[in-house]
Amino acid sequence: MRTGKLIDIECRCGILLFRYFKAGKGRLIKLLIPRITDDKVGLEGLETFAKPACPACGKELGIIMMIHGEPALKLNQGTIKSIRI
Ligand SMILES: [Zn+2]
Repeated sequence: MRTGKLIDIECRCGILLFRYFKAGKGRLIKLLIPRITDDKVGLEGLETFAKPACPACGKELGIIMMIHGEPALKLNQGTIKSIRI
């Protein structure tokens, strides 16, 4: 696998949403769903343009899109808090 970092992604309400292997540097804009290692929300199998919500507070986390042929969650920056681990 390419170099990168495992990051914890939390909702602003404080619950853990995902663990994600982020390649490269820079701000986290989207999550490629196949690269999520721990999915507490259940993104797998959601349709394109679905808008998953935080299971605790119900805020929208973003929108599912296809990016380079892979399903991805484009993050709603207002809802997500990410922490490098
Ligand atoms: Zn929440």
